Amino acid sequence: MTDVEGATRPIDINTVASTVVEVQGLVKTFDNGRVRALDDVSFSVPEGQLCVIIGLSGSGKSTLLRHLNGLHEPTAGSVTVLGQRVDQLKGAELRALRTKVGFVFQQFNIVGRLSCLENVLSGALGRLRGPRMGALSYPKNLRQEALAQLERVGLGDRAFQRTDTLSGGQQQRVAIARTLMQKPKIVLADEPVASLDPEISGQVMDVLFQACVEDQITVLCSLHQVDLAMGWASRLIGLQDGKVVLDSPVGEGLTQERVMEVYQRLDPEGRKVSEYATSVLDLT
Ligand code: ADP
Ligand code: MG
Repeated sequence: MTDVEGATRPIDINTVASTVVEVQGLVKTFDNGRVRALDDVSFSVPEGQLCVIIGLSGSGKSTLLRHLNGLHEPTAGSVTVLGQRVDQLKGAELRALRTKVGFVFQQFNIVGRLSCLENVLSGALGRLRGPRMGALSYPKNLRQEALAQLERVGLGDRAFQRTDTLSGGQQQRVAIARTLMQKPKIVLADEPVASLDPEISGQVMDVLFQACVEDQITVLCSLHQVDLAMGWASRLIGLQDGKVVLDSPVGEGLTQERVMEVYQRLDPEGRKVSEYATSVLDLT
Protein backbone atom coordinates (compact mmCIF):
# COMPACT_ATOMS: atom_id res chain seq x y z
CA MET A 1 0.00 0.00 0.00
CA THR A 2 1.46 3.38 -0.96
CA ASP A 3 0.62 6.70 0.57
CA VAL A 4 -1.12 9.30 -1.52
CA GLU A 5 1.40 12.05 -2.15
CA GLY A 6 1.26 14.70 0.55
CA ALA A 7 -1.09 12.71 2.77
CA THR A 8 -0.01 11.90 6.30
CA ARG A 9 -0.70 8.63 7.94
CA PRO A 10 -0.88 9.01 11.71
CA ILE A 11 -0.35 5.37 12.60
CA ASP A 12 1.51 2.90 10.42
CA ILE A 13 -0.90 0.00 10.20
CA ASN A 14 1.97 -2.41 9.59
CA THR A 15 3.50 -1.88 13.01
CA VAL A 16 1.75 -3.32 16.02
CA ALA A 17 1.45 -0.53 18.56
CA SER A 18 2.60 -1.41 22.06
CA THR A 19 0.08 -1.60 24.88
CA VAL A 20 0.28 1.40 27.19
CA VAL A 21 -2.70 0.73 29.46
CA GLU A 22 -3.83 -2.66 30.69
CA VAL A 23 -6.70 -3.00 33.14
CA GLN A 24 -7.60 -6.48 34.38
CA GLY A 25 -10.56 -7.48 36.51
CA LEU A 26 -10.72 -4.03 38.09
CA VAL A 27 -13.23 -3.75 40.93
CA LYS A 28 -13.72 -0.65 43.05
CA THR A 29 -16.18 -0.42 45.88
CA PHE A 30 -16.86 2.52 48.17
CA ASP A 31 -18.57 2.79 51.56
CA ASN A 32 -17.53 -0.68 52.78
CA GLY A 33 -18.74 -2.36 49.65
CA ARG A 34 -22.13 -0.70 49.54
CA VAL A 35 -21.29 1.13 46.29
CA ARG A 36 -19.75 -0.91 43.47
CA ALA A 37 -18.34 1.82 41.21
CA LEU A 38 -16.35 -0.54 38.94
CA ASP A 39 -17.30 -4.16 38.44
CA ASP A 40 -14.75 -6.47 36.79
CA VAL A 41 -13.50 -3.99 34.19
CA SER A 42 -10.88 -5.29 31.72
CA PHE A 43 -9.45 -3.69 28.59
CA SER A 44 -6.14 -2.66 27.10
CA VAL A 45 -5.21 0.38 25.05
CA PRO A 46 -2.49 0.52 22.37
CA GLU A 47 -0.18 3.51 22.00
CA GLY A 48 -1.60 6.45 20.07
CA GLN A 49 -5.27 5.54 20.42
CA LEU A 50 -7.98 8.11 21.21
CA CYS A 51 -10.23 6.02 23.39
CA VAL A 52 -13.46 7.60 24.62
CA ILE A 53 -15.30 6.33 27.68
CA ILE A 54 -19.01 6.99 27.70
CA GLY A 55 -21.77 6.31 30.17
CA LEU A 56 -24.42 7.94 32.32
CA SER A 57 -23.47 10.06 35.28
CA GLY A 58 -22.47 7.64 38.05
CA SER A 59 -21.49 4.82 35.66
CA GLY A 60 -17.86 4.87 36.85
CA LYS A 61 -16.00 6.97 34.25
CA SER A 62 -14.13 9.23 36.70
CA THR A 63 -13.38 6.33 39.04
CA LEU A 64 -11.84 4.41 36.14
CA LEU A 65 -9.68 7.31 34.94
CA ARG A 66 -8.49 8.03 38.47
CA HIS A 67 -7.18 4.46 38.78
CA LEU A 68 -4.97 5.00 35.74
CA ASN A 69 -2.77 7.56 37.50
CA GLY A 70 -3.01 6.09 40.96
CA LEU A 71 -5.54 8.50 42.45
CA HIS A 72 -7.59 5.47 43.52
CA GLU A 73 -6.43 2.05 44.73
CA PRO A 74 -8.33 -0.92 43.32
CA THR A 75 -10.45 -3.09 45.58
CA ALA A 76 -9.46 -5.99 43.30
CA GLY A 77 -7.74 -6.43 39.95
CA SER A 78 -4.70 -4.79 38.41
CA VAL A 79 -3.86 -1.58 36.55
CA THR A 80 -0.71 -1.49 34.42
CA VAL A 81 0.30 1.80 32.80
CA LEU A 82 3.45 2.16 30.66
CA GLY A 83 4.58 -1.23 31.90
CA GLN A 84 4.21 -0.39 35.59
CA ARG A 85 1.68 -1.70 38.10
CA VAL A 86 0.16 1.63 39.15
CA ASP A 87 -1.74 -0.06 41.95
CA GLN A 88 1.56 -1.10 43.56
CA LEU A 89 3.51 2.16 43.12
CA LYS A 90 4.11 4.51 46.00
CA GLY A 91 5.77 7.88 46.66
CA ALA A 92 8.54 8.88 44.24
CA GLU A 93 7.77 6.08 41.78
CA LEU A 94 4.15 7.11 41.55
CA ARG A 95 5.11 10.77 41.12
CA ALA A 96 7.51 9.79 38.34
CA LEU A 97 4.77 7.88 36.54
CA ARG A 98 2.38 10.84 36.92
CA THR A 99 4.79 13.09 35.01
CA LYS A 100 4.17 10.79 32.02
CA VAL A 101 0.40 10.64 32.52
CA GLY A 102 -1.28 14.05 32.19
CA PHE A 103 -4.74 14.73 33.59
CA VAL A 104 -7.23 17.22 32.12
CA PHE A 105 -10.15 18.12 34.37
CA GLN A 106 -13.68 19.24 33.62
CA GLN A 107 -13.11 22.44 35.61
CA PHE A 108 -9.75 23.18 33.92
CA ASN A 109 -7.76 23.54 37.21
CA ILE A 110 -5.68 26.42 35.88
CA VAL A 111 -4.55 29.37 38.02
CA GLY A 112 -6.81 32.20 36.87
CA ARG A 113 -4.68 35.12 38.06
CA LEU A 114 -1.59 33.87 36.19
CA SER A 115 -0.92 34.57 32.53
CA CYS A 116 -1.61 31.83 29.99
CA LEU A 117 2.14 31.45 29.44
CA GLU A 118 2.81 30.94 33.16
CA ASN A 119 0.06 28.35 33.40
CA VAL A 120 1.54 26.45 30.47
CA LEU A 121 5.07 26.80 31.87
CA SER A 122 3.94 25.26 35.15
CA GLY A 123 3.43 22.03 33.19
CA ALA A 124 7.24 21.81 33.01
CA LEU A 125 7.72 21.99 36.80
CA GLY A 126 8.12 18.23 36.95
CA ARG A 127 11.23 18.63 34.79
CA LEU A 128 12.75 21.38 37.00
CA ARG A 129 14.06 21.71 40.52
CA GLY A 130 12.57 24.23 42.90
CA PRO A 131 9.68 26.69 42.67
CA ARG A 132 9.34 29.38 39.99
CA MET A 133 7.87 32.86 40.19
CA GLY A 134 6.84 34.43 36.90
CA ALA A 135 7.54 33.43 33.31
CA LEU A 136 11.05 34.91 33.34
CA SER A 137 12.17 32.54 36.09
CA TYR A 138 11.91 29.65 33.62
CA PRO A 139 14.77 28.83 31.21
CA LYS A 140 14.48 30.40 27.77
CA ASN A 141 14.08 27.10 25.95
CA LEU A 142 11.06 26.27 28.12
CA ARG A 143 9.54 29.70 27.47
CA GLN A 144 9.89 29.04 23.76
CA GLU A 145 8.39 25.58 24.17
CA ALA A 146 5.44 26.94 26.19
CA LEU A 147 4.75 29.59 23.56
CA ALA A 148 4.81 26.92 20.86
CA GLN A 149 2.29 24.85 22.86
CA LEU A 150 0.04 27.91 23.19
CA GLU A 151 0.30 28.53 19.45
CA ARG A 152 -0.57 24.93 18.81
CA VAL A 153 -3.86 25.29 20.70
CA GLY A 154 -4.58 28.54 18.84
CA LEU A 155 -3.77 30.93 21.70
CA GLY A 156 -0.31 32.24 20.84
CA ASP A 157 -1.62 35.81 20.93
CA ARG A 158 -2.91 35.38 24.51
CA ALA A 159 0.40 34.44 26.15
CA PHE A 160 0.51 37.43 28.53
CA GLN A 161 -3.22 37.69 29.22
CA ARG A 162 -4.59 36.69 32.64
CA THR A 163 -6.04 33.24 32.13
CA ASP A 164 -9.30 34.02 33.97
CA THR A 165 -10.13 36.67 31.36
CA LEU A 166 -10.44 33.97 28.66
CA SER A 167 -13.60 32.08 27.72
CA GLY A 168 -14.19 28.57 29.08
CA GLY A 169 -13.11 26.85 25.90
CA GLN A 170 -9.94 28.93 25.75
CA GLN A 171 -9.15 28.18 29.40
CA GLN A 172 -9.50 24.47 28.71
CA ARG A 173 -7.13 24.78 25.76
CA VAL A 174 -4.60 26.49 28.08
CA ALA A 175 -5.04 23.57 30.49
CA ILE A 176 -4.39 21.09 27.67
CA ALA A 177 -1.32 23.07 26.52
CA ARG A 178 -0.05 22.89 30.12
CA THR A 179 -0.59 19.13 30.14
CA LEU A 180 1.23 18.76 26.79
CA MET A 181 4.10 20.83 28.23
CA GLN A 182 4.57 17.95 30.66
CA LYS A 183 5.51 15.82 27.62
CA PRO A 184 3.15 13.05 28.66
CA LYS A 185 2.87 9.66 26.99
CA ILE A 186 -0.78 9.44 28.02
CA VAL A 187 -3.42 12.11 28.57
CA LEU A 188 -6.43 11.31 30.73
CA ALA A 189 -9.27 13.78 30.24
CA ASP A 190 -12.31 13.57 32.52
CA GLU A 191 -15.27 15.14 30.73
CA PRO A 192 -13.08 17.98 29.43
CA VAL A 193 -15.93 19.59 27.52
CA ALA A 194 -18.80 19.06 29.98
CA SER A 195 -19.10 22.76 30.77
CA LEU A 196 -18.65 24.04 27.20
CA ASP A 197 -21.09 24.57 24.36
CA PRO A 198 -21.01 22.18 21.37
CA GLU A 199 -18.99 24.27 18.90
CA ILE A 200 -16.31 25.06 21.48
CA SER A 201 -16.31 21.40 22.53
CA GLY A 202 -15.23 20.45 19.01
CA GLN A 203 -12.25 22.82 19.21
CA VAL A 204 -11.12 21.27 22.50
CA MET A 205 -11.53 17.71 21.14
CA ASP A 206 -9.54 18.74 18.07
CA VAL A 207 -6.61 19.77 20.27
CA LEU A 208 -6.64 16.35 21.96
CA PHE A 209 -6.97 14.64 18.57
CA GLN A 210 -3.97 16.55 17.19
CA ALA A 211 -1.87 15.51 20.22
CA CYS A 212 -2.73 11.91 19.40
CA VAL A 213 -1.91 12.19 15.72
CA GLU A 214 1.17 14.42 15.91
CA ASP A 215 2.85 13.19 19.11
CA GLN A 216 1.53 9.61 19.32
CA ILE A 217 0.07 10.50 22.71
CA THR A 218 -2.51 8.00 23.90
CA VAL A 219 -5.70 9.77 25.01
CA LEU A 220 -8.36 8.33 27.28
CA CYS A 221 -11.23 10.76 27.52
CA SER A 222 -14.60 10.46 29.18
CA LEU A 223 -17.48 12.22 27.45
CA HIS A 224 -21.16 12.65 27.96
CA GLN A 225 -22.09 13.45 24.37
CA VAL A 226 -22.50 10.55 21.96
CA ASP A 227 -22.07 12.65 18.80
CA LEU A 228 -18.77 14.07 20.00
CA ALA A 229 -17.61 10.62 21.06
CA MET A 230 -18.42 9.11 17.67
CA GLY A 231 -16.92 12.08 15.87
CA TRP A 232 -13.49 12.01 17.51
CA ALA A 233 -12.81 8.61 19.05
CA SER A 234 -11.06 5.73 17.35
CA ARG A 235 -12.58 3.44 19.96
CA LEU A 236 -15.50 3.63 22.40
CA ILE A 237 -15.79 1.95 25.77
CA GLY A 238 -19.27 2.14 27.30
CA LEU A 239 -19.82 1.81 31.04
CA GLN A 240 -23.11 0.99 32.69
CA ASP A 241 -23.22 0.66 36.48
CA GLY A 242 -19.46 0.06 36.56
CA LYS A 243 -19.48 -2.67 33.92
CA VAL A 244 -18.12 -2.52 30.36
CA VAL A 245 -21.16 -2.97 28.12
CA LEU A 246 -19.57 -1.73 24.89
CA ASP A 247 -16.01 -1.90 23.60
CA SER A 248 -15.76 -1.21 19.91
CA PRO A 249 -13.74 0.58 17.26
CA VAL A 250 -15.62 3.54 15.81
CA GLY A 251 -16.42 2.83 12.20
CA GLU A 252 -19.14 1.80 9.85
CA GLY A 253 -20.18 -1.19 11.95
CA LEU A 254 -20.98 0.87 15.05
CA THR A 255 -24.39 2.51 14.93
CA GLN A 256 -25.69 5.38 17.02
CA GLU A 257 -28.49 3.06 18.25
CA ARG A 258 -25.95 0.57 19.59
CA VAL A 259 -24.08 3.36 21.37
CA MET A 260 -27.29 4.81 22.83
CA GLU A 261 -27.99 1.47 24.53
CA VAL A 262 -25.16 2.34 26.92
CA TYR A 263 -27.36 5.14 28.22
CA GLN A 264 -30.32 2.97 29.21
CA ARG A 265 -30.81 2.81 32.93
CA LEU A 266 -30.96 -0.53 34.67
CA ASP A 267 -33.36 -1.51 37.43
CA PRO A 268 -31.81 -3.23 40.50
CA GLU A 269 -32.15 -6.69 38.94
CA GLY A 270 -30.16 -5.63 35.90
CA ARG A 271 -33.00 -5.43 33.38
CA LYS A 272 -33.23 -2.38 31.19
CA VAL A 273 -35.82 0.02 32.53
CA SER A 274 -38.05 -0.23 29.48
CA GLU A 275 -38.23 -4.03 29.86
CA TYR A 276 -38.79 -3.65 33.58
CA ALA A 277 -41.61 -1.17 33.10
CA THR A 278 -43.17 -3.49 30.55
CA SER A 279 -43.10 -6.40 32.99
CA VAL A 280 -44.34 -4.38 35.98
CA LEU A 281 -47.18 -2.92 33.96
CA ASP A 282 -47.92 -6.38 32.55
CA LEU A 283 -47.80 -5.09 29.00
CA THR A 284 -46.43 -8.24 27.39
P1 ADP B 1 -19.11 9.09 36.56
O1 ADP B 1 -17.78 9.76 36.49
O2 ADP B 1 -19.39 8.16 35.42
O3 ADP B 1 -20.22 10.07 36.76
P2 ADP B 1 -18.14 8.15 39.10
O4 ADP B 1 -16.92 7.34 38.77
O5 ADP B 1 -17.93 9.51 39.64
O6 ADP B 1 -19.11 8.14 37.85
O7 ADP B 1 -18.98 7.35 40.19
C1 ADP B 1 -19.30 5.98 40.08
C2 ADP B 1 -20.06 5.57 41.34
O8 ADP B 1 -19.17 5.58 42.46
C3 ADP B 1 -21.21 6.48 41.71
O9 ADP B 1 -22.23 5.69 42.28
C4 ADP B 1 -20.59 7.39 42.75
O10 ADP B 1 -21.58 7.88 43.62
C5 ADP B 1 -19.64 6.45 43.46
N1 ADP B 1 -18.46 7.15 44.01
C6 ADP B 1 -17.48 7.75 43.30
N2 ADP B 1 -16.53 8.26 44.10
C7 ADP B 1 -16.91 7.97 45.37
C8 ADP B 1 -16.36 8.21 46.66
N3 ADP B 1 -15.19 8.85 46.81
N4 ADP B 1 -17.04 7.76 47.74
C9 ADP B 1 -18.20 7.10 47.61
N5 ADP B 1 -18.79 6.82 46.42
C10 ADP B 1 -18.16 7.25 45.31
MG1 MG C 1 -17.33 11.79 36.43
